[in-house]
Amino acid sequence: MDSIKNYLIDMDGVVLRGTTLIPGAAEFLRHLRAQGIPFLILTNNSQYTARDLHVRLSYMGLDVPPEAIFTSALATAQFLHSQRPGGRAYAIGESGLTTALHDGARFIATNSDVMGPGEGGIVPATGAVAALISAATGVKPYFVGKPNPLMMRTALRTIEAHSEESVMIGDRMDTDIVAGTESGLRTILVLTGVTKREEVERFPYRPTWTMESVADIKVSDLTSEGEDLNESATRHLKVVGA
Ligand SMILES: [Mg+2]
Repeated sequence: MDSIKNYLIDMDGVVLRGTTLIPGAAEFLRHLRAQGIPFLILTNNSQYTARDLHVRLSYMGLDVPPEAIFTSALATAQFLHSQRPGGRAYAIGESGLTTALHDGARFIATNSDVMGPGEGGIVPATGAVAALISAATGVKPYFVGKPNPLMMRTALRTIEAHSEESVMIGDRMDTDIVAGTESGLRTILVLTGVTKREEVERFPYRPTWTMESVADIKVSDLTSEGEDLNESATRHLKVVGA
């Protein structure tokens, strides 16, 4: 099996929770940077730009350049550009957007998450706004963010990585792990976020590896050449439920 040379890393539930870093995440990312290993931090959250997130992360003590952050809004912009270079888009909008949809415009949304963390608690997110527009127009949106494999493929292309040499690290079976699997990546489920250990077996697909947290990922084991990676990882990493 090919060794792993590139990392796609979900942000919420893997690197941080709310405004708190997950222990070991800073060291893990520092290690990737020091080794010159290509990685992207992915988020379905389309509210912030990569530069905004770079600043928010730096407040938490995490030094990640904006180029290493990839949001569903960036994936959507790349998708729209590839579909229709120089085309026009209504970014959110009220009557303008609904009129465009009645006129046969395509309805594309960054992600299907109906709620997410906001200042002071859970707030309605893109999926909720999309549902409102759907109800008013009868038009269903096309979602670009996870679990659409398009998000993974666009991210891989951004760092010029191949799926067979890459791993997706995520905290959700129903978004990160399914999208990583469908994109041909190996996957690591970490148990610091949404999916609980006892829920993993309910899904018809499984992560390549399951670990307690990002702190347990040993990059040197995943990049080692010449030996069976599964065997190496099983031996050296904390594999839960294997
Ligand atoms: Mg997550």
